[in-house]
Amino acid sequence: MKAAVVHDFRKPLSIDDIPKPEPRSGEVVVKVETCGVCHTDIHAAHGDWPIKPTPPFVPGHEAVGLIERIGSEVKGLREGDRVAVPWLGWACGACEFCSSGRETLCPNQQMTGYTVDGGYAEYVRAHASFVGRVPEGVDPLDAAPLSCAGVTTYKAVKVSGARSSDLVAIYGIGGLGHLALQYARIAGASVAAVDLVDSKLALARDLGAEHTVNSAIDDPVEAIQALGGADVAIAVAVSPVAFEQAFRSLKRGGTLVFVALPADNTMQLPIFETVLHGITVVGSIVGTRVDLADTFQLHAEGRTRVVRETRQLEQVNDAFEQIEKGAVDARLVFDLR
Ligand code: NAD
Ligand code: ZN
Ligand code: ZN
Repeated sequence: MKAAVVHDFRKPLSIDDIPKPEPRSGEVVVKVETCGVCHTDIHAAHGDWPIKPTPPFVPGHEAVGLIERIGSEVKGLREGDRVAVPWLGWACGACEFCSSGRETLCPNQQMTGYTVDGGYAEYVRAHASFVGRVPEGVDPLDAAPLSCAGVTTYKAVKVSGARSSDLVAIYGIGGLGHLALQYARIAGASVAAVDLVDSKLALARDLGAEHTVNSAIDDPVEAIQALGGADVAIAVAVSPVAFEQAFRSLKRGGTLVFVALPADNTMQLPIFETVLHGITVVGSIVGTRVDLADTFQLHAEGRTRVVRETRQLEQVNDAFEQIEKGAVDARLVFDLR
């Protein structure tokens, strides 16, 4: 089968012919229809993070497709079912975190497109109990971004505690950010969107953001403090500078949610202001299987809009370059149909 493979963190991906996976016990093999390009895939391909994947590997954790083969011991799924294969490929179900409903913190977890091969391929193998059922009527081109960008920001807004009278600042209106702002609005909050690119701010306004700031031109901290400060700031921009600005745009008692994972892993977090202003800083990693089902349901009800453009798998290296330049409106999705 055809797959985009990372062989070396310093080299472009290559389109290879690799063996088609076979389902083992408890697994399914999915014929991939679509797979979104998450910025995480770029970090994976570059080996950006403290824990690195082992080349050669196939990235991609926003895969959506039809189940083609079912291994032994799989219950509740049938050939032909449309499912998503998300980042959380498997969790042990037995550790302290799994047992307390926090499976995304499982220390034994497998991560799709990182520790196991992902969806930049014609077929992907997945643990049956960790695939997400895509509801009838949801376009596979929409379902792909929802399976990471969607569920991650749905969860981030949930952990932020954003409520109807709140102002939520979203730093970075990319694949994640354009959905984060919609979940904040669904929670009833007003949104201030911050990005370096005007077209992304136009998109943010189109999606309902009440305020926008181009931080390449204006100081977002000043602009948001002039509105009274943000109750919540969600950092989905791939830059520690944006995290620092997000912190300083908070109102007293505010909450900063860390979501993006820039290669440069540190930021300045002032102790004095955190203490005196009673600030909460919280990290948020993807979402559980229930969060994913909720995310799909909101979309099936017509309450979210996925902004995306399609590409062919062969364009993977150009796609990465365009995303890194900020030249993409929200998400790119490979169409493998
Ligand atoms: P993206 O490239 O689609 O979007 C990033 C956006 O940030 C772009 O619009 C870009 O213009 C903007 N930006 C860059 N620098 C900025 C700055 N200084 N100020 C304001 N905006 C700025 O990326 P994405 O796919 O949305 O992913 C974002 C990050 O989230 C990545 O680091 C990714 O690895 C991470 N991520 C985390 C999780 C999680 O569970 N925590 C899940 C998925 C992705
Ligand atoms: Zn992702
Ligand atoms: Zn576990």
